Amino acid sequence: MAEEKRKMVKVYISGELFEVPEGSTIVTAMEYAGFQLKRGVGCREGYCGACATVYREKGDYKLKGGLACQTVVTDGMALTQIPFVPAEKPTYDLDKLSPDVSTFMELFPSVFRCVACNTCTKACPQDIQVMDYVQALIRGDIAKAADLSFDCIRCGLCALRCPAEIVQYNNATLARRLYGKYLSRKSPELEKRLKEISEGKFDQEMDKLKKMGRKELSETYYKREIKIS
Ligand code: SF4
Ligand code: SF4
Repeated sequence: MAEEKRKMVKVYISGELFEVPEGSTIVTAMEYAGFQLKRGVGCREGYCGACATVYREKGDYKLKGGLACQTVVTDGMALTQIPFVPAEKPTYDLDKLSPDVSTFMELFPSVFRCVACNTCTKACPQDIQVMDYVQALIRGDIAKAADLSFDCIRCGLCALRCPAEIVQYNNATLARRLYGKYLSRKSPELEKRLKEISEGKFDQEMDKLKKMGRKELSETYYKREIKIS
């Protein structure tokens, strides 16, 4: 039986025209076109945030952003990948910080330049309310910022579009670290388990797992005892 012919679409990748199968994601289209992706791609499942890409679609003037592994190409699309988003990233010692607005005034003064345009929220492929977490930080509500930004994958697309040149995701990472260290409710079970880990209780078991092949590891995982309390 003759193989069914796949419908092709035309895309411009970094200015060069290619024909790729309809329905491809940007990542698969680029590989079909012969690009060997060594950077700008990671998990391919929309979790790692490595494949931020900007594109325009035929007849639409808007510059859009998305994850290359999750965005399907359309006929006439013009796209280019962003190797990384240069971003303000101060170093800090979490033990010496306080979980309030003063920390952001010192480490990320740019966040107070927010003009509430909501561009970041529209740019986010995770549908995170980015502007709302930025505004929460400005109010000093670290817990709210940590909660709203929880699904951030640090793709950089919000920062790329921000007219105030704010690096939203680095602010959000600090908010979650501060929340985890100072504000979250402590769990006695977790404390106990962390102590056991640092005392080496699971070292032998870990060594055994590290020596297993993929098949044995998978079987062991699915046979594991699950305790539901
Ligand atoms: S908040 Fe910014 S960095 Fe995080 S997922 Fe959304 S666009 Fe990407
Ligand atoms: S894009 Fe920048 S200025 Fe606009 S709402 Fe987001 S953080 Fe504020």
